[in-house]
Amino acid sequence: MKLLSIVVSAYNEEAGVNEFYRVTKEYGEKLREKGWNYEFIFVNDGSMDRTGEILSELADTDKEHIKLISFSRNFGHEAAMIAGLDYASGDGLVFMDADLQHPPEYLLPITEAFDEGYQVISMVRTSNETAGIIKKITSGGFYWLINKLSDIYLEPNASDFFAITSTVQKVLMKNYREKVRFLRGYVQNVGFRKTTIEYKAAPRIAGKSHYSIKKLFTFAMNTIMCFSNVPLKLGIFAGLSSGFLGFILLIYTLCTHDGAPSGYATIVVLLCFMFAVLFIVIGIIGEYIAVLFEELKDRPLYIIEDKKNF
Ligand code: UDP
Ligand code: MG
Repeated sequence: MKLLSIVVSAYNEEAGVNEFYRVTKEYGEKLREKGWNYEFIFVNDGSMDRTGEILSELADTDKEHIKLISFSRNFGHEAAMIAGLDYASGDGLVFMDADLQHPPEYLLPITEAFDEGYQVISMVRTSNETAGIIKKITSGGFYWLINKLSDIYLEPNASDFFAITSTVQKVLMKNYREKVRFLRGYVQNVGFRKTTIEYKAAPRIAGKSHYSIKKLFTFAMNTIMCFSNVPLKLGIFAGLSSGFLGFILLIYTLCTHDGAPSGYATIVVLLCFMFAVLFIVIGIIGEYIAVLFEELKDRPLYIIEDKKNF
């Protein structure tokens, strides 16, 4: 029998995690007929509610199928997925949310794709009725920008629902451990035989989303810096174009000069414009230095307080 590791990160999911386990386990059991055993790797990402206790109880009752990692505090969804990646022992790994937005009925097609020899399986959302219009527009714009700026391609509707084999797991474990990172993006760019499966995102079973607009913005900025150096080159473009502008103005002034001092407005406007460009460029460099600083400090991606059934 092959083993499928189902990696689930949970943060304040007390209302839905039991139901998630019950439903997903049913599909897990069905996999046995196809020659796949299953294990859950639950990562409790420093939940403040009863999620930890609920998961711990589940781990006690189903020792055979549940492994539990508890973080010392909230480290974020990405860190939780990395911890799952580090501790999963399956031949195949699938990453899922604990809110049943990633329908477990797709576990079967995922294992079939593994059996066909695919190493990376991206689950692509066909529709997300839960996302509002603002989220749709901003996310569309983000993917357009990142694909323009970087030399890799990120699938616009790919989600944190994906599956990889243990071979890919090893690659991701060894490298790709930047402090500022985007696991979903790396998964799509390690190569290997890859396929996509479409799925329809379901609404959350309970609780509410943890991603605010502010968090998403930070996330978008980080991703751009993970995958692209183009913003750093903005300074060169800005310098060149303002030099060009200055040159034109010089010619213009020399040609039209009639002795009278003039052009106060032009000077003020130009000054504001130049300073704006300068500060933006400095700001961008600052952002990259912040990323370098994070790397340099080399703090752990996550801290584990407790492990169960390992
Ligand atoms: N999550 C986590 N740590 C966090 C925030 C979220 O582990 O700091 C988990 C959360 O419990 C869920 C998954 O990440 O299983 C996706 O989060 P959420 O459903 O809030 O995001 P959305 O589906 O709205 O994008
Ligand atoms: Mg969700």
